[in-house]
Amino acid sequence: MIYGALEAGGTKMVCSVGDENLKILDRAVFPTVTPDTTIPQMIDYFKSHGISSLGIGTFGPVDLNENSETFGFITTTPKPHWGNTPILPFMRGALQVPAMIDTDVNAAALAEFSVGAAKGLRSCLYVTIGTGIGGGLIVENNLVHGLVHPELGHMLLRPLASDPAPDGFCPYHKGCLEGLASGPAIEKRWGESAKTLPEDHMAWTLEAEYLAQMCVNAIVSFSPEKIVLGGGVMHRSHIFPMIRRRTLELLNGYIQSSALLNGADSYIVPPGLGDFSGVTGALILAKRALEA
Ligand code: ZN
Repeated sequence: MIYGALEAGGTKMVCSVGDENLKILDRAVFPTVTPDTTIPQMIDYFKSHGISSLGIGTFGPVDLNENSETFGFITTTPKPHWGNTPILPFMRGALQVPAMIDTDVNAAALAEFSVGAAKGLRSCLYVTIGTGIGGGLIVENNLVHGLVHPELGHMLLRPLASDPAPDGFCPYHKGCLEGLASGPAIEKRWGESAKTLPEDHMAWTLEAEYLAQMCVNAIVSFSPEKIVLGGGVMHRSHIFPMIRRRTLELLNGYIQSSALLNGADSYIVPPGLGDFSGVTGALILAKRALEA
């Protein structure tokens, strides 16, 4: 059985095919231009591989309410040309195979939960910190959708007095996580990419502070059994110990759990699947689509 996995992003569409063991067999990348250009390219790719079903992990916001008339649509994205795009109906209609859609971060959370860093648990939070910040949440073995789906990147934080840009850079909110701590926010604040800022730069003190505040908010809100932090910014792995330390300081001993008392080394962790959480999650969605 060959499964299709679509990682739909604002700059590129990554199309992959894999087998029932979630092994990736082939991959193609198409720039996210317009739906008229890009969707037919993806359809041709998946048709040429004879997939049995398709899983989509997409940027959003996306309508995940199965009873909605716009189920499977990318809805109010600021990405030009892609607002109100029926990506799931288009793909399913053209390929004539079962398909399942979720947010890109929920797909990654599903993968980390099923076969990655949170395997064997009943809950986990996956957060990607890169061009944007997003979070996927699993509680009691189920992906959380709720009202729409979690938009953890826009959680409001308490900016530090030493932050030269305490309002952050989100066009919607002052002081939200994405506006304060995404890769572009780091670069705008310091004039240098997160890829090259030295490890002892003050940028990382701020970054660890904001990610620790997010972890605290998540711990007291959802009580996840593990927090997985992925995305390009987290390739700078020296900030993991800083985030753990600051999270414990901010919690101030209030939450009693052995996972936290041991320094949180195995509680706030990088993805077990490295950069393959997203594609693996989309393959799992494809398997689920076929089973359903
Ligand atoms: Zn925001």
